[in-house]
Order: sequence, then C-alpha cells, then structure tokens
Amino acid sequence: QPYCSPSGPISDACCEFRTIQKVNSELSPLLAELVTTSFFRYWKTNLHKDCPFWQENPLCILRDCSVVEADESEIPEHWKTSALSSVDQSPLDNGFSLMSKSCQWSEADFCAVEDDFSAEGCYINLLKNPERFTGYGGESAARIWGAIYRENCFNLFENNLEGTLTNRRKELENTCMEKRVFYRLLSGLHASISTHICDQWLDRKSGEWIRNLTCFSDRVGNHPDRVQNLYFTYTMMVRAVAKLAPYLRNHQVHQFCTGSGADTHRIEDLVEQVADKAVACGPTFDEKTLFVDSGSMLLKEEFKTHFRNISQIMDCVGCEKCRLWGKLQISGLGTALKILFSYDDNPMLYRLTRGEVVALFNTLNRLSESVAAVDEFRAMHQKQAKED
Ligand code: FAD
Repeated sequence: QPYCSPSGPISDACCEFRTIQKVNSELSPLLAELVTTSFFRYWKTNLHKDCPFWQENPLCILRDCSVVEADESEIPEHWKTSALSSVDQSPLDNGFSLMSKSCQWSEADFCAVEDDFSAEGCYINLLKNPERFTGYGGESAARIWGAIYRENCFNLFENNLEGTLTNRRKELENTCMEKRVFYRLLSGLHASISTHICDQWLDRKSGEWIRNLTCFSDRVGNHPDRVQNLYFTYTMMVRAVAKLAPYLRNHQVHQFCTGSGADTHRIEDLVEQVADKAVACGPTFDEKTLFVDSGSMLLKEEFKTHFRNISQIMDCVGCEKCRLWGKLQISGLGTALKILFSYDDNPMLYRLTRGEVVALFNTLNRLSESVAAVDEFRAMHQKQAKED
C-alpha cells in the first residue's frame, strides 16, 4: 500500500476512507472554530490527583509540560448555577439535560467524570495549552501505554506489544468485535496523539515549531494499522455526534448559552452544522453490531471496567499538559461510548455534563486535525521522495 494512502472500507466501521476524508474536509473548519468559542474552550479538571495504580514520579518540570490555569473571573458564573439547577430536571422535559456529578461515575459512564461542580480542580483555557511536543517520554510514558495495551486491552497483546504487524493482525482477527473495537479506539487515539506531537515538534536547535516527517513515519506513517485505527476512532466519534444530533438540534442547543448573545447564536449555529454534517455523511459505524451475543452483558461490563481503568491511568501521566489532553480525550471517547451504548435507543434519557460535551467536541476536533495532518505528511513524503 502506498505511504499513508488507505482506501476501501475501514475495518469494523461501515464506511470507506474516502467518505471520512470528505466529511472531514467539511467538518474540520467548523470544529476548528467551535473549539475557540467561549463554551468549548474551557474545561474543568483536577490535574493533581494521585496515580491510583503505582507510585508515580513527580510531574516533569520541562517548560513545555506545564499548564496555565484560567483565571476564574473568565468563567461565566451561571454555568455553575444553571447546571446545578438542572440536576433534578426530568429528562423528559427536554430530552437532553446537563447533569452534575457528585460521585466518580454512574452506571452509564465509561470513564471517571469531573465537571464544573467538582470541588477540586480548576478551569483550563484549552487554547492557551495546545497539545503538542513536550519532551515527555521514557519509562514513565512507556509504562502508561504498556498498562493500557497489556493490562486493559483484554490481554490481547499480553507479551506482544512490539509484535509484528502480521501477528497483531492475526490476533485481532481471531478476537471478537467488541475487543477489537476497544483496541482500535485506543490505538487510534495513540496514533492521533503521536501525529500531533510530530506535527508540532520543537526543533531544539532553532527553537522553532516544525512538522517532523521522520517522527511521523516512525510512529504512524509506516504503520498502516495505526493509520486505519486513527480513522476508525474518528468514524466512531462522528457516529456518536450523529446520534446526539436530534437532541442538540431540537431541544437543548440553548444550553450552550454563555451569557453573550452574539456568541451564543454562533455556537448554536456551529453545533447544528457539525451535527447536520455528521448525520448527512451516512452511517459510519454501527453500534448495534456490538454486545448482541449471549454473555454480552458481561462483556459490556468488562469493557466499561477497562475503560474506566484507563481513565484513571491518565492520573499517572507524568507531564501535566499530556495529562490534561489525555484526560480530555479519554473523557471524549468515554462520552461517545456512553452515547452509543448506555441508552439503547432511548436518547430521551441522555444525561451529559457540560464537561462531557466539551470533551466530546474537542476530541473530535483533535482527531479531525490528525486526519488532515496525515494528508499533509503524505504530501511531504511524496515531495521528499521526488527530490531524493
Ligand atoms: P510511544 O508513543 O510511547 O509508544 C509506546 C509503544 O506503543 C511503541 O513502542 C509501540 O510498540 C506501541 N505503539 C505506538 N503507537 C501505537 C499505536 N498507535 N497503536 C498501537 N500501538 C502503538 N508527548 C508529547 O510530547 N506531547 C503530548 O501531548 C503527549 N501526550 C501524551 C499523552 C499520554 C496519555 C501519554 C501516555 C503520553 C503522552 N506523550 C506526549 C508521550 C508520547 O505519547 C510518547 O510516549 C513519547 O513521545 C515516546 O514515544 P515513543 O516513540 O517511545 O513511543
């Protein structure tokens, strides 16, 4: 297969690569603007929780690892009060309501959720803390990825994280779809994070941020399975937004209210456009093919347990900025899983926090940027091949 030029159907999804390329060209400018708006650029989280699984070294002190907290005065007061007053709201009143969380997760959740009402944590302006190369790596990062794949991907690659592509493919083919989907989602997220690192790489000699093709080829470009998985994760996120669309569109878009009229209208308009395009692109992923066999309830619980573990593993990431984006994107994937698998066909029961909605759309945006970056890296690779 030519470098980074996947074609045909995306494994375990129900659409083709070219469908996703087309939908991404439409979605990416909308998402890029959406995440700059007042509602979507602030996310509250606690970056100082202890790692619950092992003794983690102190957070790294590299300059590029640090996170700048938002000034509380930037945060609209009514987010906290209006969301608090919606706690007791009947979901049937409006179909989709924001809710507050007092405990770490409810039955419907696939991951630990923190939100506007959490006593601990602080607001972060995501625009001021972009996800990019930080220099974090070594044993600490390897341990996190190892714990994710070895211990929490249903032991699919217990002793074989570095296994050959053929071996991995065989193991994946022989396992059930639910376990494959789980692995693909995480591998897709990992590929996306690697793509951002290589797309915004700090050249220590010049001090400039550059696009690093060698980095991308080593980590993603020369691994067709990882490129596939990146696309797969994107298709699942688009499906979750499509499923959420009627409720975003008809009932609760006004909940994106931020206090400033003009801003609110633009946010509503952007959310509607993203949702419309997610629907219009046709089916991308069929969640109904999962958890249908006998024993699937048990499998679903295991799936949830592993995903919740992974959300907690994010508190072990040893670089503050990587921890921020790791937590946000795991929360975004967890929200998508909740939309797809927790409410059967009764989205009237949807319960999402503001933090989950923000994480969902920011995660989709990060994946959208990665899918676009793959095209840029392919062009760079072709140009370089011609010159050589
Ligand atoms: P790693 O990316 O650490 O990968 C470890 C092993 O996993 C590889 O050797 C390979 O066997 C396997 N692997 C790699 N990619 C995939 C894939 N897509 N699917 C399946 N298996 C795979 N660094 C930054 O500079 N900026 C960040 O924002 C950042 N965020 C991070 C967030 C998290 C949650 C974590 C755990 C780490 C983050 N890092 C970040 C560190 C970064 O991901 C790498 O760990 C680090 O750059 C070292 O990379 P590496 O080449 O050794 O391989």
